[in-house]
Amino acid sequence: MRDRIATACARAGRPADSVQLLAVSKTMPLPCVLEAMAAGQAAFGENYVQEGVQKIEALRAWEAEGGRPVQVAWHLIGPLQSNKTRVVAANFDWVHSVDRLKIAERLAEQRPAELGPLQVCIQVNIDGGTTKSGVAPEEVPDLARAVAALPRLALRGLMTIPEPQSGFDAQRAVHARARALFEQLRAAGIGGAAFDTLSMGMTADLEAAIDAGSTLVRVGTAIFGAR
Ligand SMILES: *Cc1c(COP(=O)(O)O)cnc(C)c1O
Repeated sequence: MRDRIATACARAGRPADSVQLLAVSKTMPLPCVLEAMAAGQAAFGENYVQEGVQKIEALRAWEAEGGRPVQVAWHLIGPLQSNKTRVVAANFDWVHSVDRLKIAERLAEQRPAELGPLQVCIQVNIDGGTTKSGVAPEEVPDLARAVAALPRLALRGLMTIPEPQSGFDAQRAVHARARALFEQLRAAGIGGAAFDTLSMGMTADLEAAIDAGSTLVRVGTAIFGAR
């Protein structure tokens, strides 16, 4: 996977370290996470709050029982309901799926002070897919400004999950719209220097996402196999 990312970066004329790999471990048990960690992977993405928290706790228990101490970042990439914000604020390092101010306000209020800021991205429904969460592109600037002003959160950027497209050009065209929105917010200074993350690209479309400017690809299947 690192080779695949490096090749995509080279083709796009970008340094290989300009794209972070998030290993999406949803539905995979802890031993799979430990195996990826042993290969040097340090950032994991989970879709379901309960499954993610169970894994985070299992990893802490593994560490406490004498496992090698770990520096792993856990990213929530799936939908977040307001009744789950407290457990997320207390356990995760990142949330990619903020799409309402209410959710961000709860996360800010519930983030334990001793943990440092929770890193958040705003999820954008970039292609108007009807079944998806995410805020409409035209609503992003106002939401981003409001989120950036909250305490105990660091607004890091945008996240998208476009509808599957076949072919590089079709994939790239959608990703390019997210990139344009990302640059528009950056030019407006929203989020300041911390606003550096464009979370887009998965197993099927990461080359196109990297070509369009993704800084973080979320990869499950190509790392862990089919779910
Ligand atoms: C499952 C999932 C991924 C990973 O998808 P793969 O196709 O397995 O790489 C990435 N992002 C989100 C939001 C997901 O739910």
